[in-house]
Amino acid sequence: MGGIGSGTGIRPNRKRTKQFIEAFPCIDTSSFPFNSMRLLPQRASQFSTQGITFQIYPDKLLVLKNVPEALLYEISFSLTPAYYGNYRYWFKCPKCNHRRRKLSLIRIDEFPLFLCRCCLKLAYQSQNRTQGDQIVHKKWTLMRRLGWNSECISDEVKPKEMHWNTFHEIRSQINTLEEMSLHRAPFSNVLCI
Ligand SMILES: [Zn+2]
Repeated sequence: MGGIGSGTGIRPNRKRTKQFIEAFPCIDTSSFPFNSMRLLPQRASQFSTQGITFQIYPDKLLVLKNVPEALLYEISFSLTPAYYGNYRYWFKCPKCNHRRRKLSLIRIDEFPLFLCRCCLKLAYQSQNRTQGDQIVHKKWTLMRRLGWNSECISDEVKPKEMHWNTFHEIRSQINTLEEMSLHRAPFSNVLCI
């Protein structure tokens, strides 16, 4: 509860949240098959994508920053026995430490962070709520200037003393904010791999 504008209509949309999460670039343990991992030297090769370099070790991935090169953090593998003496690889989510098949990338202030779906959803919802509150707050400030007290279009009446130009301008800003609240893209700083 709390926060400016809370209770005025915007709530995280579960279906939309799921779509956003599925659209995020991710790393998948199926890219690390047991057979080839078994052959890795102790200090394995590295690969880069989107300004992030990974160094692969038999038991972990190191996430490095390219310029200047620096270790950001590591993602541990967890192995569970599978058929024929093989093992299945899992990531341990850097935030909740649970075993996961996939981790999704988000960038927070340019810091590339790989999180599991659950941690990502929580991060998404808190950001969604903050942005939603700001947009709703702005929208209602404008609506009050027009003397409206409901989001219902039929209440759309120009205050007597207001110029038509001002009225149209404010109404257009309200429409824009309405659009933003419906279609804004949280984590717009997320890069697509
Ligand atoms: Zn997690």
